[in-house]
Amino acid sequence: MPNARVLIDGPSELVFDYAFPDELPVRPGCRVRVPLRNRTATGTVLAVVPSEDLGFATRPLQSLIDPEPLITPALLELAQWMADYYGSSLESVIRSLLPESVRSEENHAKSQKMVQLLRSPTLEEIETLGRKAPKQQAIITRLLDQSEQKILLAELGKGASASVKSLEKQGLVRIFEEEIRRAPDADLQEQIIESTPLALHEEQQQALTAVCQLVEAPSKPLLLLGVTGSGKTEVYLQATRYALDQGKTVLVLVPEISLTPQTVRRFKSRFAALIDQVAVLHSHLSQGERFDEWHRIRQGKARIVIGARSAVFAPLPDLGLILVDEEHDSSYKQDTAPRYHGRDIAVLRAHIERCAIVLGSATPSLESYQNCLDEKYLLQRLNQRADAHSMPVVRVVDMRIEQKKQKNSQTIFSDPLRSAMEKRMERGEQSILFLNRRGFARSLQCPACGHACQCPHCAIALTYHRTDERLMCHICGFQSIVPRRCPECKDPAIALQGFGTQKVEEVLAKIMPRARIARIDADVMRRKNSLRDQLNAFKAKKIDILIGTQMIAKGLHFPNVTLVGILNADIGLHVPDFRASERTFQLITQVAGRAGRGELEGEVIVQTSTPHAPAIQYARRHDFDGFSEQELEFRRAFGFPPFGRCAVLTVRSTHERRAEFTLQTLHRRLLENLPPHLNISEPLPSPLVRSHGQFRFQITLRGPQARPLTRHVQSVLQKTPLPEDVIATFDMDAINFS
Ligand code: ADP
Ligand code: ZN
Repeated sequence: MPNARVLIDGPSELVFDYAFPDELPVRPGCRVRVPLRNRTATGTVLAVVPSEDLGFATRPLQSLIDPEPLITPALLELAQWMADYYGSSLESVIRSLLPESVRSEENHAKSQKMVQLLRSPTLEEIETLGRKAPKQQAIITRLLDQSEQKILLAELGKGASASVKSLEKQGLVRIFEEEIRRAPDADLQEQIIESTPLALHEEQQQALTAVCQLVEAPSKPLLLLGVTGSGKTEVYLQATRYALDQGKTVLVLVPEISLTPQTVRRFKSRFAALIDQVAVLHSHLSQGERFDEWHRIRQGKARIVIGARSAVFAPLPDLGLILVDEEHDSSYKQDTAPRYHGRDIAVLRAHIERCAIVLGSATPSLESYQNCLDEKYLLQRLNQRADAHSMPVVRVVDMRIEQKKQKNSQTIFSDPLRSAMEKRMERGEQSILFLNRRGFARSLQCPACGHACQCPHCAIALTYHRTDERLMCHICGFQSIVPRRCPECKDPAIALQGFGTQKVEEVLAKIMPRARIARIDADVMRRKNSLRDQLNAFKAKKIDILIGTQMIAKGLHFPNVTLVGILNADIGLHVPDFRASERTFQLITQVAGRAGRGELEGEVIVQTSTPHAPAIQYARRHDFDGFSEQELEFRRAFGFPPFGRCAVLTVRSTHERRAEFTLQTLHRRLLENLPPHLNISEPLPSPLVRSHGQFRFQITLRGPQARPLTRHVQSVLQKTPLPEDVIATFDMDAINFS
């Protein structure tokens, strides 16, 4: 008898072998029921091993849950790779790979009783029925009106079942169960009008040809670097059509479904004739809907899948093409275990499944771009806007001057921004205001000269810690006291920077009382549908000025928006993160891409106290090459990614001393047998020391390669028992250092 090597569901990461009879089709990826001590457990088959190889007797497997493996061999390979790379338990990886709704045995395909006419009755029969059994006659006439002459039994009303039974006996109708799909978008009732492919510009045509060649013969990933509005989406659409025509399926990843409604709509319109083959994996799907969509995908019925990060695991058969839109977006990184990066996993999946993959962005991550420079990725560029509009004009306003002029070191609106908004109001055009929230009120900056306090060793911003009134570097541990005067210009006004969206709304309502203002931030996002309602109201021009955080910098397309203001471009620059400049460059460029999308010319106003910061200047000129060249030089000099790996080990507890002490212990052990070239920071409080009532301390680790780093940390964690109320997490390729 062969044996199944089974990973038991649950946090303990148990793996046992179970014997099963030859005729049972147990394969890797199957879900099974097995005996475990004195209970029954469920688990996933990792491998099938012959008994001879084991050399000991095993207990028999209880039963197979699904006849077909739920996890394909490719996805199982992916899972194993992820567990190893990110240092997560395989069980937690499989849990994120198979949605709960699919794993749980409670969700079955839903079916309903239907009644269908078997043959058309003669006029005579109908007349007879009318006399003897008018109810039965009514049912027959209703059925004659239906398409396919069938109807839901329930729709015939209460008390119809006796009549239907009688009709069934007479051989006129049949009653049967039909599987119904819980259609996710049914409640939206949106009208989808089919769109036709556009004639491509030369650059687009070149890019499309390159992608189609990859669909035919997959080789390296392709980075599509196209300025905002250059027509990347049109290339995606036509490439998708090509892959479908080859009999392949297509996976489209977007940063967040609710924030990219326009991308989803464009796919639906283009493939309106195949709308049943399009599956949109929303985070709002009910368990039943998710179950149905998952199985539709698995069965090859849904051949285009659009979804956010976790859709990278969609079980598409015959995968031909993966598209990762806005590949630089940080929401691709999962912030709970397993802490995977959706884009990186997509690249790996494409490699395992031998399919084409396209990463698209106007502001690609430096990781992906460096891969092009190293010729690991192919590069295609779209340098022109597709609709012949010019790029918007970006104006940088020096807030140091504005604050002097207005005699207020907390000025929110500069004069140029204010008058630009007023001009839009007069012309009936719309404005968007962006507020950067990352690193809110944690970095110290001088309003007079713009100087921000930085680590002398790592060239990243120092973080202010209220508890002990200190500034700290979160990469190396450097500490300094909080200066009373600006170290640069000696002005005593040096202060924490930051204001929130509410404050902006308040002040704006005062200075522009006639403006209709709306706000989109995390609070608004939490309420169901309110994001959609706000965006719809904005689209319908019921709002003049929209205030939002960087959340709304993605994929929105409003032709009437001619002004975009970025209120505090600096804040993003001074977060304790080596990607601070990159993020700021991306934010300004992406946000600027929201302006001037229609016939009207767009304008962008960037307010900053460091107008000469390279990220701001390169973004102003829409110059990705200039920016990346300078930024890569900085990364190389300090050994930051993409020239090395960076991970964060965090320990948290409601008990401050215990968390700190635990991390110190881990730190000591990490230093023992430290592999060569591994760089470990001192244990430090996290930039956000206290969050959700827990105290957090962290160590930053850097090294040339990921795996030796992960393995070293894992081996220390395994050997170090943690106190009960202390939790340690490890984040490989961390992108959030707070
Ligand atoms: P991106 O995805 O690069 O931001 P989009 O695909 O949204 O760019 O294209 C921007 C605008 O240009 C859209 O309104 C789109 O319909 C239009 N567009 C794209 N390709 C073409 C083309 N070949 N000819 C005319 N208009 C185009
Ligand atoms: Zn430092």
